Amino acid sequence: MKNILYAKDIEKSVKKNNITYWQPYSCSICNVKYGYYFRDGQVFFDGACGCGGSIFGERLTSYQEVANLYNINSNKDFKQAMLDYFKIGD
Ligand SMILES: [Zn+2]
Repeated sequence: MKNILYAKDIEKSVKKNNITYWQPYSCSICNVKYGYYFRDGQVFFDGACGCGGSIFGERLTSYQEVANLYNINSNKDFKQAMLDYFKIGD
């Protein structure tokens, strides 16, 4: 398993595989999945599902932030699922 994922690893995979979203999270109340959206060469995070009256809206983020989720995570299952999703081999 890779030790480090780079922003360019994610960016390449998104372009090559036409990936439009990655939703690693789900709301503990309504179970709706949420996460990252890839559009026009940019990355957005949207955590909005309306639960708890919180409105997050969409914010611009970066491939680096997505890669960091891998780099800071100690959960091997999460990391492997991420590699599988983005079709990034060891
Ligand atoms: Zn919810």
